[in-house]
Amino acid sequence: MKRTTSAVLGLLVCGLLVYPALGSAQNFDNVQIRTLQVTESIYVLQGSGGNIGVSIGDDGTFIVDDQFAPLTDKIVAAIAELTDKPVEFVVNSHWHYDHTDGNENFGRAGARIIAHENSRRRMETSQIISLNGRLQEAYSKEGLPKITFGESVRFHYNDNAIDIVHFGPAHTDGDAVVFFRDANVIHTGDVFVRYGLPFIDGPNGGQLSGMIDVLWGVAGLISDNTTIIPGHGQLSTRTDLLEYRSMLVTIRDRMLGQIAEGMSEDEVVAANPTQGFAPPGAGTERWVRAAYVDLR
Ligand SMILES: [Zn+2]
Repeated sequence: MKRTTSAVLGLLVCGLLVYPALGSAQNFDNVQIRTLQVTESIYVLQGSGGNIGVSIGDDGTFIVDDQFAPLTDKIVAAIAELTDKPVEFVVNSHWHYDHTDGNENFGRAGARIIAHENSRRRMETSQIISLNGRLQEAYSKEGLPKITFGESVRFHYNDNAIDIVHFGPAHTDGDAVVFFRDANVIHTGDVFVRYGLPFIDGPNGGQLSGMIDVLWGVAGLISDNTTIIPGHGQLSTRTDLLEYRSMLVTIRDRMLGQIAEGMSEDEVVAANPTQGFAPPGAGTERWVRAAYVDLR
């Protein structure tokens, strides 16, 4: 039951299929945080919103994403079950609120927040998320990243070289993947997710072709033995990531062919370019329309 609830809530921003459910207030009281151990020192916390990666060790606690603000106390309690060291660093995989809404709480508690420079820029002002039209208000100073980077930055922390890498526009214009080299675990944020068609925030710098390129970059960074923590959903492998990428390549190439033939947006929708990958319906149609605008 818990799993279903958090899975559904987790899809509210980044999943298309439950798009119509948006708009109703979320009740976080019933959300529980589930902890999964990935390696000796790396964990995943799942509640509502993006997967939280947690690295614990002698240096302190380093997390990737922080979900929704009303969940911060529960997240902190779940981390306290693993370590007595406070959260020193929070990486934002990107700026969408289901990954960053806890920033102000963690920032106020003394954590340093790190994000790609475009993500900080977007969090400095209000944004409209294209999937649901939701307004994401600017964060206060405490919720903004104190540390930003352009292409990549490496942390040496908890006996890991941790590479935080921006490969280019994909899900948004400020995506970062976080690769714990020694542990051989990567958190991909929403450039890789485990539900159907990925949300690509086109009006905010996301690009379908960019996502395909970024996935190739991630595949080159990791190995077949790497454990992937996706932005949403269950732990995965490089093979899963490459299958997901080839789905996107197939759909994109079908659509580029249709666009080259001069087909209109409605004609492309009618031609069902996602056939074999996504069930027909309002969510799929909406995705194709957004991809048409992106690829045209
Ligand atoms: Zn997102």
